[in-house]
Amino acid sequence: MDNDLKPICLVLADISGYTNFVKENAKVWNHANIVINTLLETIVGKLQKELVFNKFEGDAALLITHSNERQAAILDCLFLAMAAFENKLKELISVNSCNCKACNGIHLLRLKFVFHYGEAIVHCIGKSTEVSGLDVIIVHRLLKNHVPSNHYFLITSDVTKSIQLPRTEMWQKYSETYGDVGNIEYNYLVQKDPFNESKVNVVPASRIKILLAKFKKAFVSMLISLKIHRFSRDRSAAVED
Ligand SMILES: [Zn+2]
Repeated sequence: MDNDLKPICLVLADISGYTNFVKENAKVWNHANIVINTLLETIVGKLQKELVFNKFEGDAALLITHSNERQAAILDCLFLAMAAFENKLKELISVNSCNCKACNGIHLLRLKFVFHYGEAIVHCIGKSTEVSGLDVIIVHRLLKNHVPSNHYFLITSDVTKSIQLPRTEMWQKYSETYGDVGNIEYNYLVQKDPFNESKVNVVPASRIKILLAKFKKAFVSMLISLKIHRFSRDRSAAVED
């Protein structure tokens, strides 16, 4: 067993959007798991170019590397993995023919990336590697934060000490204080909503119903006023005769 503290890059990829309602029966629960696993495999597949998969943690995946000079390359990988996630979401929606709550809610899923650099104790037990220590706790604590979105990149200042963030002006600087790990500074970048454009163009069925009812009402009142107008005109003509 190896108990040394080693430099480590830690990346947590966390999928959110499925609330407990989708797990209300076995079929929905099963389909939700298939969707989440497919998306996590897509993300991990992209990140494995620079990181080593460590473990799945529910709807999240933890990836690590002991390299202390690959932060810029890892960040590039996060952008690629975000794009792959969004493409896979759209693909899953386009091929879906199931009407269950999990399959109908794929468009609600979003991705959070937390990237931290620090030190960890590495335990190698057989083929599996367990990492522990303060920095491993920090990367998990950072999933609870004040970022006003659930689709973003969060990079701690321990990472940005050694790299320059791309499009610096787009990133927001912030910090969180946690009881057990203290104050953690980070930069975050909110990713554009992948369905923003379609949302603008789609008029919900309930709205169409309301619009049709309004149109019908306006049409009926127009017909009535036209009839009244004709009636008064015919009457005036009759009086004049
Ligand atoms: Zn389904």
